[in-house]
Amino acid sequence: MAISYDQVIEFLSSISIVAPDQLDCGGCFELFAEFVEAEERGDKLTEPLKAVQNHLRQCPCCAYEYETLVEAIREADKESGA
Ligand SMILES: [Zn+2]
Repeated sequence: MAISYDQVIEFLSSISIVAPDQLDCGGCFELFAEFVEAEERGDKLTEPLKAVQNHLRQCPCCAYEYETLVEAIREADKESGA
């Protein structure tokens, strides 16, 4: 039994866990501040912010930048006595 290329693609897309990456790193970076704020407040994520979250799962570089930013914000909050 031969499997066609189309069938392979169909199979792969049916099992893929993550949605296709809609953002590049620049676009992701632009939304970082907004994304962090929404996360900290526990807001429901808007579509662009969901794209950021999705990108972070797939891009170790941005995930690292994001963690650094979150740390910095938490430190700043501590210092302001919040
Ligand atoms: Zn990235």
